[in-house]
Order: sequence, then C-alpha cells, then structure tokens
Amino acid sequence: MRLDRRALLAGLPAAAFAPAAFGQTAAKVAVIGGGFGGATAARTLKRIAPELDVTLIEANAEYLACPFSNLVLGGLRDMAGQRFAYAGPARDGVHLVQARAEAVDAAAKTITLADGAALSYDRLILSPGVDIRWGALAGYDEAAAEPMPHAWKAGPQTALLRRQLNAMADGGLVVMTAPRAPYRCPPGPYERASLIAHYLKTEKPASKLLILDAKDDFSKKPLFLQAWSELYPDTLEWRGASADGRVSRVDPQTMTIETDFEAFQADVANIIPPQKASAIAERAGVADATGWCPIDAVSFESTLQPGVHVIGDATIAAPMPKSAFSANLQGKICAIQVARLLADLPAEPTLLANTCYSFVAPDAAVSVSGVYANGAGAFAEIPGAGGVSPLIPEPGGRAEEAAQARDWYAAITAEAFG
Ligand code: FAD
Repeated sequence: MRLDRRALLAGLPAAAFAPAAFGQTAAKVAVIGGGFGGATAARTLKRIAPELDVTLIEANAEYLACPFSNLVLGGLRDMAGQRFAYAGPARDGVHLVQARAEAVDAAAKTITLADGAALSYDRLILSPGVDIRWGALAGYDEAAAEPMPHAWKAGPQTALLRRQLNAMADGGLVVMTAPRAPYRCPPGPYERASLIAHYLKTEKPASKLLILDAKDDFSKKPLFLQAWSELYPDTLEWRGASADGRVSRVDPQTMTIETDFEAFQADVANIIPPQKASAIAERAGVADATGWCPIDAVSFESTLQPGVHVIGDATIAAPMPKSAFSANLQGKICAIQVARLLADLPAEPTLLANTCYSFVAPDAAVSVSGVYANGAGAFAEIPGAGGVSPLIPEPGGRAEEAAQARDWYAAITAEAFG
C-alpha cells in the first residue's frame, strides 16, 4: 500500500492522535467487517496515524474472496486461492477481534459482540458487505440455497455449486437468475455465465446454460453479448426482462424456475437473489428503507447516525459500483477522513475510481472503469474519464486484460490481507 502519510494528513499537528490529545487514552476507531473495505480501512488508519487504537471486528478467522470465485466455479482455479488470513492487519498493529458484532449503540458509541462483551469507540467504520433478502424472490428462502445455491458469498456456497455442476450429466440444463440493480458486483453474473458456459462447452457439450434476467441492461453488455456469440453460441442463452426473463417464483423441491409465462426445470439452478446491506447495518440504524446505507459522499459518515462511517457494498454510493475495487479505495479514503475528523480537521473532497475486470474465457477478460468526484454532495461520474474495453480489441488485447486482472487480484488481496 503506497500512502504518503505527510501528504495525506498535511496540516495535522504532530501529536494530533497522541494520548494527550484525547485525555489519557488514544482515540479508538473500531472497524466492523474484515473484507476488502474494512481490512483496508483498518490498515490504512494504522499506517497514517499509528497513535490511533484501531480494532478490526470480523466474524470469521479467514476471509473468502468473491473476486475470482467464478473461475473456481468454471473449474479453472482452486478454492485455496480465495482464502486469506489477517496477517497483514495484525502486523500493522491492528487489534483483531474474531467475533460477530450483534449490536451497535451509536449514541453511547458501543458495540456488543456475540458473547455479550462490549467495546467502546470514538468513531466506527462499518464494512459488513451484503446479506441475501430471503423470501424477496418467492420460494427462495434459506433452505432453498442448498438445492439452488446463490454462491454470492464465497465459501461453502461456491463449493456446493461447483459440485452440482460437476455432478450434472451431459445434456443437462443450468439455469442462472440475475436480479435487478443494486446488487453486489454488477458484471459478476455475466462473468460467471461465461465461465460456466466455457466449462459446459469443453466438458459437457450437450448441456445448456439459460440466464433469466430481471433487467434488460447490464454492465459491459455489448462486450458480453459479443463474447457469448463468438465463444458459446450453442451453449448460452440470455433472456432479459422484456423477453420474459424476470423470474417470479422458484420451487426448490421440483427445481422449477418460473417466469410470467414459462416454467423451466433445471438440473442445476444458480439463483442470484436480491440483496441488502448486511444485518448489522440495520441494527446500527444506518440502513434506510431501501435496505442500503445513505452516507455523506466525502466523509462516508452515515447520514442517519453521526460517528458511524459506512463503506463498501453496504453503501448507497451509485454510480460507484458495489465492487472490491470500490470497497478497497473507499476504505483508504474513509480512513484518511476519519483521521482528519479525529484531529478536528474537516473531511476533504477527493476523486475516486473503479475498474471491474470480467473473464469471458480462461485467458480473456474485458473491463469497465469509472472516475468519480464527491465534492458536490453525491458521487458523480466524470464524463470521459473512464471507459470500457474496445469491441474490436488489438491482437492479444483480451489476454492482456486477463493478465491485468490477475495482477489486480494479487495487488488488492495483498493490500487488504497480506
Ligand atoms: P465484504 O468483502 O463482503 O466483507 C464484509 C465482511 O464483514 C465479511 O468478512 C463478513 O464476515 C464481515 N461481517 C459482516 N457482518 C459482520 C458482523 N456483524 N460482525 C463481524 N463481521 C461481520 N469485485 C471486484 O472489484 N472485482 C471482481 O472481479 C469481483 N468479482 C466478484 C465475483 C462474485 C461472484 C461476487 C459475488 C462478487 C465479486 N466482486 C468483485 C464484489 C466484491 O466481492 C465485493 O464488492 C466486496 O467483497 C465488498 O467488500 P466489503 O468490504 O463491502 O464486503
């Protein structure tokens, strides 16, 4: 992580975070959620303001990364490459608490853990990711995720879907459903479809993949449609909302997936359901009626609970997508703003950026990038500053982007966890 501490905190008094500035104890920052947003925020804080007392509260002993998990589903990568311990944050002096945070009292500035223990903080950063909205799609409750995995949180669900794809006989039908926005990783379903289609084409060529989509438009659509018609014309079919692609109901007993006018019997069903900010956001009072968390675009402070900052997938930050790239950068910027606020300096407008790579085949990827300003009260995409891969690439262009995607994954996981 290359951070110029002096430039970031220019103007801060040298002893801003020292115990004397806060009575006898250093200011305490708690971070809930050790994913791409939270782990990065905690490490950044310790690096730019080592005097701060930073605690990272994470429910699991190791992190299982979603990016590149579609390659696991396609049989192109081992699950071991998705696992990360928290060695990096610990080395940087972040206190690690492996526990589920059950409640946050924003007025009293305390967190209650699953075992009943309480922690106090001066500022809190929440990066808890997403939860599934069970039941929002008729028939899709927690029990349905066994026969019809979502695999939208990496781990056992990824392994389960992979096993089901492996066990399916050649000639089978895989049905994938994609939700309306907003949801985690806008291009994720279409990368997954590409890699499952690659697996079917090479290992089970009589099989089909049908994507039933609740929308007509999606991230990098022209690039995906082009790749599918070139690479998987006999394997993959996509149906948008206006072609009766919106799923109205699923039945896990009979493996049936219904749209308004048709019913499909799947051999393997991957249901990517509607989502919301993870439960602790609601319990902390930072999620609104949409299920997501409104924030001040400059400081990432909740507009509902002062002293609580929210980053990553849980936020309402459109047009920034819910991606690991966004969460990681938001983590760094939020850390800087929290350090400034603790030193009685105002949060300052910044630029933000995102790039999402998607594999369309094992050695071919496409990307979309955006640059965003936050100075005018909301996130705004800067026209012309981003872009997408060309429809007609230079020779080797897609392979070059696949190599960039691998470099990006190595860099971002090292920044958060390594
Ligand atoms: P997370 O990474 O989900 O971290 C949240 C953490 O909080 C978890 O570790 C969880 O255990 C913890 N937690 C939650 N509640 C509590 C609690 N109460 N107490 C303690 N801990 C708690 N993004 C990209 O940029 N590029 C990609 O190529 C990409 N590919 C993807 C592919 C798939 C299939 C999917 C599903 C997603 C993909 N993403 C990708 C999106 C990316 O995974 C998310 O945007 C990113 O993980 C968001 O980071 P986060 O910190 O907000 O949440």
